[in-house]
Amino acid sequence: GAPMKALIIDGQNNHDWKTTTPALKQILEETGLFTVDVATSPPAKGDMSTFKPDFAVYRVIISNYNGEPWSKETQDAFEKFVREGGGFVSIHAADNSFPEWKAYNEMIGVGGWGNRNEKSGPYLRLRDGKWVHDTTPGTGASHGAQHAFLVQTREPAHPIMRGLPAEWLHSKDELYDRLRGPAKHVTVLASALATRETRGSGEHEPLLMVISFGKGRVFHTALGHAMEAIRCVGFATTLQRGTEWAATGSVTQKVSANFPTADKVSLRP
Ligand code: ZN
Repeated sequence: GAPMKALIIDGQNNHDWKTTTPALKQILEETGLFTVDVATSPPAKGDMSTFKPDFAVYRVIISNYNGEPWSKETQDAFEKFVREGGGFVSIHAADNSFPEWKAYNEMIGVGGWGNRNEKSGPYLRLRDGKWVHDTTPGTGASHGAQHAFLVQTREPAHPIMRGLPAEWLHSKDELYDRLRGPAKHVTVLASALATRETRGSGEHEPLLMVISFGKGRVFHTALGHAMEAIRCVGFATTLQRGTEWAATGSVTQKVSANFPTADKVSLRP
């Protein structure tokens, strides 16, 4: 069929969005499944009332945005888009955005920083093989030193994960830990151990998740701090598959032979 229309949102981020957005766009377009537009917001302290992407013409929205609140009108339009069945993909610091926007936090499941704490919701913690809510008071997010780390599949039968190895070595990235939020309707697809040695939480941290919000599907990847992480074949593959799943509810892509293994990072050119 014809490629699906996808939209990346950027314009404000404490990360280098001017470099990463073109890379994300290429990763998505090379699947042949998507044509990707980019909506760039005004810079910080700009007139956000002018930022009004036409969400309704897209199948899936991908956020590379971490910045000031959008207008009420734009927030309402985005919420309506997802609630009525649109796909949404949150990349890395996009889950830092909008700590005060209730529906957005329900879409991402858990998020970080922005004064998030126990009032934002629980941590997701792996206990006896199940992800449970931990309401212990405390910080909403941190990360240790950047490093390559082992990503472990938790839902091998989910369409996004089918055919991927049980464990794979992700190239150097920030390993977000202690994210917290409403954590409703979340399925954790993959996690990684944030070791104490790297100043992490000592817990298995959810890093790839899917969330249902109304009729909409959300894919949340906490990976992707900078280009070394985005060039990881594991990051790119899960982004491609997660975006297709968010758009359609199924995944038709094959897993490439150069996918990383448990002991070897694999970078795209
Ligand atoms: Zn980062």
